[in-house]
Amino acid sequence: HAKINKRDYQIYDTHIDKNSIERFQLINELKVAIEQSQLVLYYQPKLNLALQKITHVEALVRWVHPSRGIIPPDTFIPIAEKTMQMDALTRWVMKEAMAQYHRWQAQGIDMCIAVNISAENLKDEQFCYWVIDTLAQQHVPVSAITLEITEDAVVSDPELALKQLSLLRENGLTLSIDDYGTGYSSLAQLKQLPVDELKIDKSFVQKLLQNEADQIIVQSTLQLAHNLGLKVVAEGIEDKATLLWLTERHCEMAQGFYLSRPLPEQQFNDWLSQSIY
Ligand code: C2E
Ligand code: CA
Ligand code: CA
Ligand code: CA
Repeated sequence: HAKINKRDYQIYDTHIDKNSIERFQLINELKVAIEQSQLVLYYQPKLNLALQKITHVEALVRWVHPSRGIIPPDTFIPIAEKTMQMDALTRWVMKEAMAQYHRWQAQGIDMCIAVNISAENLKDEQFCYWVIDTLAQQHVPVSAITLEITEDAVVSDPELALKQLSLLRENGLTLSIDDYGTGYSSLAQLKQLPVDELKIDKSFVQKLLQNEADQIIVQSTLQLAHNLGLKVVAEGIEDKATLLWLTERHCEMAQGFYLSRPLPEQQFNDWLSQSIY
């Protein structure tokens, strides 16, 4: 053949080889991890800026690997997405979040929980029905759950994804666009998304007060969202001045290391009981 695929050469590259073995191991171990629940949810508070109260948390998954220690989601979520394991993973996360909802209720803590949904989930026609049915079975009110979805979730099969998002929203779940501002969707596409909330990506927030362009972007996003009737969550708040800046501009919700890092259940509860909010 005259044309040789570049990928054919890479088989002989020892560096790639080592990575693919590593990856292969993680793929198989991830199955076990989901089955044997080596996964754990960490919770990061979201401050309601009008009420000055923690009313929401985002659930963020970690993999407590028996020999490798805690593996961050950026390492294994992409593997789960490529190996058809996102369905099992998201179902595990949703069920754990529902159990956590009841544990907090039992302690008199009224908390809404946000769960991250992958583009892979919206390719499965059954996903929205599973979510709605499971919430009912587990006696968790739909109003207690927010689903965070990135803009790219609608790219591959917009019709199916939009149908599922509409059903979820009609059934009372709150939908949020995650990492807002980093995707490629146009305002025309955004207009069609049946969502309640935009979550401004942390890359615009982390250095907000040092960067005038970020201030202009965040200010315009707040105006755009509010004019469209959407609420705004800012993530990546790392200092008090940024929190005040956003409060003055009527951002609805704030999340970031300044308030708290994501914490496992017990530490989160300790943090909450000592927090001024
Ligand atoms: P994300 O959904 O954008 O989550 C926010 C990430 O930003 C979290 O990283 C959080 O720890 C981090 N973060 C929060 N506040 C700050 C801050 O003030 N400064 C900085 N520098 N970072 C902050 P984490 O937990 O490592 O999660 C990374 C990504 O993994 C998430 O990004 C999400 O895309 C994905 N992920 C996590 N859990 C799940 C899950 O259960 N399902 C799915 N599908 N994806 C998940
Ligand atoms: Ca998120
Ligand atoms: Ca985000
Ligand atoms: Ca992100």
